[in-house]
Amino acid sequence: MIIDDNQYDVIVIGSGAAGATVANSLGQRGLKVLLLERGGPMPLADQNVADVDLFRKDRYHPAEQWFGTDGDPFSPQAIYAFGGNTKIWGGVLERMREREFEGLHLQEGPSPAWVLDYGAFEPWYEQAESLYRVHGAAGVDPSEPKRGSPYGAAPKPVEPFLEELRQGLERQGVHPYPLPLTWSESAVDPSGDAELFGVDPARKCASVTLRGGATVSQLHVNPAGNEVRGVEAMIDGQRWLFSGHQVVLAAGAINSAAILLRSATDRHPRGLANGSDQVGRNLMKLQQTSILQLAAAPNTGRYGRSFGINDFLWGDKNVSYPLGAVQNGGGVLQDALFAESPPVLSLVTKLLPNFGLEQLASRSITWWASSPVLPKGHNRLSLREGRIQVNYIPNNREAHDRLVYRWIDVLKAVEADPACQVVKAAPTHPRGEAPLSAMGSACGTCRMGENPATSVVDLQGCSHELSNLTIADASVFPSCPMMGFGLTVIANALRIADAVSASLR
Ligand SMILES: Cc1cc2nc3c(=O)[nH]c(=O)nc-3n(C[C@H](O)[C@H](O)[C@H](O)COP(=O)(O)OP(=O)(O)OC[C@H]3O[C@@H](n4cnc5c(N)ncnc54)[C@H](O)[C@@H]3O)c2cc1C
Repeated sequence: MIIDDNQYDVIVIGSGAAGATVANSLGQRGLKVLLLERGGPMPLADQNVADVDLFRKDRYHPAEQWFGTDGDPFSPQAIYAFGGNTKIWGGVLERMREREFEGLHLQEGPSPAWVLDYGAFEPWYEQAESLYRVHGAAGVDPSEPKRGSPYGAAPKPVEPFLEELRQGLERQGVHPYPLPLTWSESAVDPSGDAELFGVDPARKCASVTLRGGATVSQLHVNPAGNEVRGVEAMIDGQRWLFSGHQVVLAAGAINSAAILLRSATDRHPRGLANGSDQVGRNLMKLQQTSILQLAAAPNTGRYGRSFGINDFLWGDKNVSYPLGAVQNGGGVLQDALFAESPPVLSLVTKLLPNFGLEQLASRSITWWASSPVLPKGHNRLSLREGRIQVNYIPNNREAHDRLVYRWIDVLKAVEADPACQVVKAAPTHPRGEAPLSAMGSACGTCRMGENPATSVVDLQGCSHELSNLTIADASVFPSCPMMGFGLTVIANALRIADAVSASLR
């Protein structure tokens, strides 16, 4: 094993939304930071989702297999690169609503409160939106939470046919609003991500060292078992050991928990930071269903997401529990998540048998419906012969189905409206759920809370058991947000970086 001589202030593991944000925030304060990332720079051709063949199935799947609920191996969709999953995300950066922090009563039961309220997050949301150059319009979405200031930039114009569709939706009594989106200013790669807004500024700080191709395998503790003394990583086939005063785990909801489980010792037989037996449990995966609508005229199939509809967030006529959010999905050929929903495509090919993918894309308008799930102890990841085993049974299904059918009813009404010429009535609206392999919106596997018996980290993300270990990614979420939660990951990472920095003073 090679032992690195440096003593870092902070070692950050993972350079996605959470890790890149933490490393940048600490680097800007002059702290000596080591950022360890298993991947490297993603080739520009692959980053630019508008120009690649998303349906080449191996493109966004690393060369590893996990085991699923049925015990069979599967190939997860995960981006191991500078920027992590944000390299292919839709870039919709939404705040959680006030009520979500307070705990919602979902169709299948109560979802836990976060203990911290929206007010504790609001200043960090503001910073996160500014950092990621979020373009949005405040005051249009009736469900929008309170804001201290407006968005820094206005939404970009949408495709003209979508503008007509938006008006058609308004005539049906729903309230489309421009999705808050992160944008770069680069013509070559216009989407914003954690490499651009986190890794790049961090690596410009003289005190930050970035090591790509560094897969962290385990953490080593002191003899008393209450402090992390070493971070072990494989680099170019060799084992390396790094040490730092503080260690921040930000390898994503699956890999952060896996690293802790892999770090088991005689003293910590269930894995590190796991006296509560909660590491790996309470895995929550946002329920997401894609729905296709037939466009009246061909479009490019390559355009970004545009507007969202939150009219059914808290329920519907005669439904008193939350259903979820609906968002326009962007072009079929530009939505990486869409490529993960093969059932939709097989249905469409039955519906339009002579259509190739490009033609299909040009005649489709896509929608995503998303609903939260409840944390359950049996939904968990564990290790099987050192590899990741995911046991997952989705819940809150009826609420999600209601949202999907309710949205299809709205689509049918728009198609029957003679004033809306951009969509066509079709015998069916093909749809498909994001499969288990689409793990980009997973959370909950190292939940945060005040009680060490029922949680893994405290409200500052610090392990209840290891004094210098902090977890910064979505694994700490006590409940599943209603829609994509990248902005909450970034805001929380900024909050946590502040606490880590204070602990070093
Ligand atoms: C197709 C797709 C579309 C999405 N669209 C949206 C959207 O529009 N809006 C939204 O809010 N969210 C979206 N998401 C979800 C969003 O990308 C995630 O919520 C966010 O990236 C989570 O951040 P993270 O830091 O927890 O994990 P990640 O961003 O996944 O980062 C984890 C990092 O850790 C690294 N890593 C893992 N294991 C190790 C190890 N052992 N050693 C060293 N490094 C390691 C990984 O390589 C990766 O870089 C989307 C996701 C996908 C896949």
